[in-house]
Parts: sequence; C-alpha cells; structure tokens
Amino acid sequence: MLLERLSNACGVSGQEDEVRALIKQEMAPYADEMWSDALGNLVVRKGDGPVKVMLDAHMDEVGFCVGAVTDEGYIKLKKVGGLDDRVLPGREVWLTNRRIPGVLGAKAWHLCSPEERTRSIPFAEMYVDLGCRNRQEVAALGIELGDPVYFATEFEHFSDRVVKGKAFDDRAGCAVLAAILQQYSYPGITLYGVFSTQEEIGLRGARVAAYNLDPDIAVALEGTGSANAAGVDPFDTITNMGEGPAISLIDASGIPSLRLFEELVRLAKTRELRHQHRRLTAGGTDAGGIALQRNGIPACTVSVPCRYIHTNAALLNLDDLNGAITLVHHFLQSVEKGDFRP
Ligand SMILES: [Zn+2]
Repeated sequence: MLLERLSNACGVSGQEDEVRALIKQEMAPYADEMWSDALGNLVVRKGDGPVKVMLDAHMDEVGFCVGAVTDEGYIKLKKVGGLDDRVLPGREVWLTNRRIPGVLGAKAWHLCSPEERTRSIPFAEMYVDLGCRNRQEVAALGIELGDPVYFATEFEHFSDRVVKGKAFDDRAGCAVLAAILQQYSYPGITLYGVFSTQEEIGLRGARVAAYNLDPDIAVALEGTGSANAAGVDPFDTITNMGEGPAISLIDASGIPSLRLFEELVRLAKTRELRHQHRRLTAGGTDAGGIALQRNGIPACTVSVPCRYIHTNAALLNLDDLNGAITLVHHFLQSVEKGDFRP
C-alpha cells in the first residue's frame, strides 16, 4: 500500500528528499510532465485542457532537528513544526534518514520531587539518548547539527479499516493525490498535482508553486485532526474518524472559496458521498497560502480525519481516505464537464 510507504518515509520540513524520491518513482508512469522547483516542490502535470486545477498535498512532516550535542553524549533538539511536549518523553526516534535509533529521555521519575511528578516535563529538559558516553561517540555516528530527527513509528494495521502510522499529516493527502493521478485522467483539465514542501513551518512550498502555476482553482488535500475519542465532548471533536472526508469552512489560514465549498457539498449530497465539515477554526492548510497568490486563487481544503496528528502515531480509517479520493474525483469531473466553472 502506498500510504504505508509514504508514512514510513522520512521528511521533516525542508528535508523532504526521501518522500519526494518515493513519489517521483510512483508518479513517473502516469505523468505527462514532472519537475521540481527551487523549494523542492514536486509538480506532476497530467492533461493539458483549458482549465488549470492545482491539487496540493504537502510532503513534510513535523519532527525535530539536532540542536546541540552535550559533552556527555546527549542530543538536545529543536522542534520542526508544532508538537505537544506532553506526549514526547519516552518516544523512540530515528536520527537522520539513516534511522539511527534513539529514545527521548528526561530525568527519571524516581529522581523527581513530588511537585515535579505532577507537572509535564518541559521540552528544554528533554534530550535524545543514543547510548553514547560522550561527544566523540556521537560524532563517530556522523551526526551533525541540524540533522533531522523523526518519530520511529512503523505503519501498522489495527484492523482491515484502521491503520496507524506517523506523518499522516500530510502523507494521507499525498496518498489521496497520488491515487487520483494514478487512477484517473481528465482531458479537459490541466491537472497539476503538487507535492509541496515546508507546510508545517508556514505554508511555504505551496505558495511558490501556486504563484508559478497560476491555477484557476486549487484544492489542498490534508490529514486533519480528529478527536471523536474518549472523554471529548462531541461539540469539540473537529472531525470524526470514520465518518467521511472533511470539507473546511474556515481555519486559521483563511476562509475557502465559498463557490468551491458549495460545489463540494453539492456533489457529496447529490452523489450520496459520506462527508462532514471540519469544525475547528484553528490550524491552517496550504489553501490559505495558495489563495493569496497573484490576484487571488479560489482554493479550499478536503481532509482525511486523523486522530493524534502531530504526535508519534496517528490513526486513520481507510474508508475516509478512499472517500476523499472519490469526492475530489467527482469534483474534477464536474470541472471537466463544465458543470462547475471557475
Ligand atoms: Zn498538514
């Protein structure tokens, strides 16, 4: 399964090479043209019809980089993207794309004062333990400042529908985009599949790609948060895993094109496609960056609900992922037939 290989591939923001190489290899048989730009975006063009549509999915994942090495041989980290400190201690990590194993350590519970035992461990007090005894042993492993650090999480099936992996934000979107490029053709459209970079540190790659491609419309494909989990008020679940792809009405990066939003909802309703709305105003997607290029580009976001994004392990339901593929496919058909005119 491509999602498995995408999830197991490693690429923090700015260091997406391994993910890009995998996607490039997968897309080669289906692309009419394929290129990378200065920011590392991979653009796959399919078709050359009069309407230009950009589908975006970001390749980068949240993680860390090596910030310092101590004399005792521990690694201090810097964060790449947004991470919740409370879920970090004890996690296994990989250093560099060579996947050198380490564990996120902190002062042992036995040594903590009663007060320390009740608070979450500050990130500044955490370190990666590679089992090294000193700085020289770390250097002998070829680890340098700035090297990427990843959650050491292997993709796994919890059931035939639910899978676990790292980086579903946004390898889920990459899987949706790859499936559309592999399975369908739209001769009436110039379809640009953009596997973009550096979303997690400010929607950077997609902006450059959108400026360059100047599409008539754009859809960002995302793995978004889902919190229909134990103890969460149904009002606060953002999206519900297992209840279909999510269409966004607003988030922190902007308000999507209402025309695109309404067309997606119309298609979902008339074709009886399971769908839901993303119910959180926080968090952003590449659609917000794309929309502000040139004279403004109508853009929106379709997401696959994922529990525990931005942690070491997320869950998603494959029916939601397949539902996102189907919904976006119907939308592209609608554009191609002229039922929806940008
Ligand atoms: Zn994302």
